[in-house]
Amino acid sequence: MRDLDVVLEPRHELLRTELRGWLARNAPPRPADDDNDSDEQTMLAHRREWHARLSAGGWSAVGWPERFGGRAADALDRYLYHEELTRAGVPRLLTTAGIALVGPVLMRHGTPEQQARHLPRILSGEELWCLGLTEPDAGSDLAGLRAEARLEDGGWVLSGRKTWVRWAEPATHCAVLVRTEQAPRHRGLSFLAVALNDPAVTVRPLRSADGRHTWDTVDFDAVRVPADALIGERGGGWAVAMGLMELERADQSFADHTDLLELLRTALAAAGARHRRGEIDDAALSRLHRGAVAVWTRCQLFRAVNLRTARRLRAGEPVGDEGSLIRLHWTRAYQELAAVVEDACGPGLLAADAWSRRYLDARATSIFSGSSEIQRTVVGERIARLPRTRTRTRTTPKG
Ligand SMILES: Cc1cc2nc3c(=O)[nH]c(=O)nc-3n(C[C@H](O)[C@H](O)[C@H](O)COP(=O)(O)OP(=O)(O)OC[C@H]3O[C@@H](n4cnc5c(N)ncnc54)[C@H](O)[C@@H]3O)c2cc1C
Repeated sequence: MRDLDVVLEPRHELLRTELRGWLARNAPPRPADDDNDSDEQTMLAHRREWHARLSAGGWSAVGWPERFGGRAADALDRYLYHEELTRAGVPRLLTTAGIALVGPVLMRHGTPEQQARHLPRILSGEELWCLGLTEPDAGSDLAGLRAEARLEDGGWVLSGRKTWVRWAEPATHCAVLVRTEQAPRHRGLSFLAVALNDPAVTVRPLRSADGRHTWDTVDFDAVRVPADALIGERGGGWAVAMGLMELERADQSFADHTDLLELLRTALAAAGARHRRGEIDDAALSRLHRGAVAVWTRCQLFRAVNLRTARRLRAGEPVGDEGSLIRLHWTRAYQELAAVVEDACGPGLLAADAWSRRYLDARATSIFSGSSEIQRTVVGERIARLPRTRTRTRTTPKG
């Protein structure tokens, strides 16, 4: 299956050629179990190794300015970068929360001291960050969060619980959204950079439906946090959080269509092999082929949306609410792909090719980064300008 072509300018061709050359010399094969391994330690070890190699080659944070160790790559470069990495089948990036989200947030809102303290360590992989937004009673309604920090003796004292925190266990730091002000919901929040090696921090594993341990619940029990750990304005945490979410939906989706197309190819090859062995019949294979065309078409549409986003970012336009549209495209394409494979090939193929984990993983995509219901409300009300629902919905698409 061939992707639709993208017309590039010479400077983007240059970056792509350089990256392809570097990958040809340096890319390790993606471990068969990457992203699907129940042994998180092995997966992390692969990714740490790969991150070190990327950093040494100057390819771990291409979008960062050169003074912070990046290549000042524009959005179209970043789009190509993600596409090339996915096509090369290398391990996934180690520290997406650090490089793609926290780093840029620190560049925008952090003090020079915070930038000097954290950015080099994020780049080297020494600091691994996670995001502490969601709480047991504050998910979609993020502004209803209860974790709080108060100033005492020149520092913050932080108490509360965060949940569904991706990779809190291996992380060194967490960007935590907390209530610091007696003010209306959205205006009373602040962002803190919290080191997780404090005895007053307790990290407990959450097991997902496929048995993996990728997420954790984190308890902060009167944790003392230095006053200068505040990221951005005191009481200005909501704006920082929304900026972070925009980054998550725009920057991190650039490669997702490539990833899905790669999965589709794998599924077709595996189903073809099973058909030749007589394990699935003609009807099942032809159902898969029909479904594959629909998924491929959706992925090409998603690719066009990602490309348009890259061009808009490059022109200095914000992605804003359209991030919700991007998220919905991805969720839809991934879940359709998983359903097509499951319907045509059944649990045999699923089990044989780690597709059962993929299938469950696809189910989660309509929840994290803001649920699909919330994203649809954003699209309906803010992009399509449909009348607001009578009961005012709280719309907080986030991670
Ligand atoms: C795999 C995974 C990874 C995650 N990673 C992180 C992470 O790293 N850091 C982090 O902080 N959080 C993370 N999250 C948390 C995630 O952001 C929340 O689960 C999500 O925002 C939904 O919140 P909730 O689970 O509290 O569900 P709720 O908000 O309780 O929603 C439950 C259901 O009600 C629906 N609903 C709620 N409000 C409305 C409304 N106003 N209109 C219509 N429908 C509505 C939702 O769509 C959903 O179907 C992760 C979650 C998952 C599943």
